[in-house]
Amino acid sequence: MKKADVILLKYGEIALKGLNKPMFERKLIDNIRLALADVGEFSVRKAQSTIYVEPLGDADTDAAVQRLKKVFGISNICLMTKCEKNIDAIAAAAIECVKSDMEERGGKTFKVESMREDKTFPMRSPEICRVIGGMVLKNVDGLKVDVHNPDIQVNIEIRGDALVYTDKIRGAGGMPVGTNGKAALLLSGGIDSPVAGYMISKRGVTVDAVHFHSHPYTSDRAKEKVIDLAKIISEYCGKIKLHIVPFTDIQLSIIDKCPERHLTIIMRRYMMRIAERIAEKSGARALITGESIGQVASQTLEGLCASDAAVSMPVFRPCIGMDKEEIVTISKQIGTYETSILPYEDCCTIFVPKHPKTRPSLEEVVEAEKALTNAEELMSDAVENTEVIEIG
Ligand code: ATP
Ligand code: MG
Repeated sequence: MKKADVILLKYGEIALKGLNKPMFERKLIDNIRLALADVGEFSVRKAQSTIYVEPLGDADTDAAVQRLKKVFGISNICLMTKCEKNIDAIAAAAIECVKSDMEERGGKTFKVESMREDKTFPMRSPEICRVIGGMVLKNVDGLKVDVHNPDIQVNIEIRGDALVYTDKIRGAGGMPVGTNGKAALLLSGGIDSPVAGYMISKRGVTVDAVHFHSHPYTSDRAKEKVIDLAKIISEYCGKIKLHIVPFTDIQLSIIDKCPERHLTIIMRRYMMRIAERIAEKSGARALITGESIGQVASQTLEGLCASDAAVSMPVFRPCIGMDKEEIVTISKQIGTYETSILPYEDCCTIFVPKHPKTRPSLEEVVEAEKALTNAEELMSDAVENTEVIEIG
């Protein structure tokens, strides 16, 4: 990949916003600045539904691009070459860009698009396209013009400088994090919940995470794994407050007092309740889980309804209609998969009933739960003793 002098960022959905568009743009620029804070010094400025990121001094643009690929709200990243505002310099840059593109990706056809912001430039856009197109044709072998469906599109912008680019890298899409409130993600060590957090955060939601830990039945390694997963998704979601809830006492009491076949669903309901309390304290307005209909015994429609009924906050389940394979594809794409498949135990997998009730009616579950007479005390203890780790 050739090094960029300037990085041009295009945004998707934000461009369609009406009066509150500046709020989305400001947040996006803040998030870009945060993402680049430890990469080097950059100037970040906005011009007509695009953002220009320019290194100050010798800041590393390749490293910047890697970060920018994970900032929600950006639909495309273009690597621009800056040159003098004269036609020979622009042609040289265009030829160079086309050659390097052909080397990297191949391509037999091209077209030139141009945009002239600086109206003092002596040529108008159609003429720029024609002249530069001719010079590219003359200087690059084996290339033809195709204005409808070119393999390579050369873009020229005449602004303070002349800017030329052909590369377009797909951005993360979505909305800037911080523009759509906060939700609390029930983060296990598995494959699905990090993907669920990523998906909701992609819509601009700030994510807090809640993990239930059953020391000593679940190990420190299992906790470390969840911290690692939170770190990986925080590259997209921004800073995450990870709440580690001590869950052992509640689990042991449930096992001791409640009918065995309802264990899993009762445990799940207590997770939801505790997560809701933590969410309320931190200003989150919804819960997020990685559940998908029918994936495991506890995720039957009845099971899902029974966990919903334990809380009054809405529960977002972005993986609900996805096959495992589709979830795995996203987890590989965002980089959580390799960590998720590490074989450490989860609190849900250590106490599994031999004959779980897969389609519990809510009445049955509520009845079974009554045996846990000190539930309130157990829950407040768990919330009080929750450890909070700041990630990102
Ligand atoms: P994952 O769904 O993350 O791959 P899993 O499929 O093994 O893990 P389940 O046991 O099916 O998880 O749990 C369903 C959902 O419940 C998870 O997606 C997660 O949101 C939540 N959950 C499960 N265990 C925990 C835990 N220990 N801490 C926090 N949330 C949990
Ligand atoms: Mg799951």
